[in-house]
Amino acid sequence: MECGKIEPERVNTRILSASEVSEAAEILKNGGTVAFPTETVYGLGANALSESAVKRIFKAKGRPSDNPLIVHIADIEEVERLAEEIPPAARLLMNEFWSGPLTIILKRKSVVPDVVTAGLDTVGIRMPSEPLARELIRLAGVPVAAPSANISGRPSPTTAAHVIDDMDGRADAILCGGDCGVGVESTVIDMSADVPTILRPGGISASRIEAVIGEVRSGRGLSESEAPKSPGMKYRHYAPRARVVIYGDPSEVRGENVGVMAFESHTAEFEGMPLVSLGSTPQDAARRLFKGLRELDKLGVDVIFAPQIPDGDDWAAVRNRLYKSAGGI
Ligand code: AMP
Ligand code: MG
Repeated sequence: MECGKIEPERVNTRILSASEVSEAAEILKNGGTVAFPTETVYGLGANALSESAVKRIFKAKGRPSDNPLIVHIADIEEVERLAEEIPPAARLLMNEFWSGPLTIILKRKSVVPDVVTAGLDTVGIRMPSEPLARELIRLAGVPVAAPSANISGRPSPTTAAHVIDDMDGRADAILCGGDCGVGVESTVIDMSADVPTILRPGGISASRIEAVIGEVRSGRGLSESEAPKSPGMKYRHYAPRARVVIYGDPSEVRGENVGVMAFESHTAEFEGMPLVSLGSTPQDAARRLFKGLRELDKLGVDVIFAPQIPDGDDWAAVRNRLYKSAGGI
């Protein structure tokens, strides 16, 4: 869709199309912030090696400073510049899943500023598969720190229009690409400890990871007093303005001014109501979840009813994001 319906003269952030990627890279080189598409969600990027540039990300998002950022690279070799130790199992994961939606936590080198890692001695690194993202990083010539390009706590943006809704006047520029194919954030795996631990479910399922490196642990529920190892674990996240309520059975959906999300097989039961289909598969649901929450929010509903998500590893990312948006975990 490129910049589609966005009217540059009506926004306070520079709107750049894919053909203007070198201008976006210049902004990064000069210490500015650029929102850009990845296969997971849109990110808000800055030069990861510049403390002052990275601080601007936190300010634009209103993000708590104890939430570390993922550093994005364009080529696998760049990992050497950022990480102190690369265990053999981490190498296997990179070879199998990069480029793609997997963030690997490794011991960091001192070149990575504290502001990126929230003072941790580790850094999260990812190589996105979206070609425009990699071109931007390559042209900028620096690793790019980038959390999702939403105001902190809101659903992540999966279209350029969503980014405008949140980042107009906050980001220096937005590089427009298409809609994000995965639709939820990367899987985060900590490879810096003795036992590989999944800190956040995402675009790559645990079973696909286990097929490559053997058993992994799932990190759950840090106590409130601990600094989050993974941001999503501590703060309210992914929440639309409307209250999100999970239903087990369609008969539980009732009330005035409500919107509904439903799997495709149940959509007929909600005819006449503001409705978003989550499709049928985990991939459909991932692609539609954040978009659907934002769409229903725009209609001004007070409550969004969303279905219970099936058990099982394939559904872990959608379950995690939706239940967090409902304030459940
Ligand atoms: P966001 O980009 O907004 O989706 O959030 C960034 C994600 O990066 C968080 O969920 C963290 O899990 C993860 N992350 C980045 N660096 C680290 C790190 N050093 N240790 C643990 N998690 C990290
Ligand atoms: Mg985020």
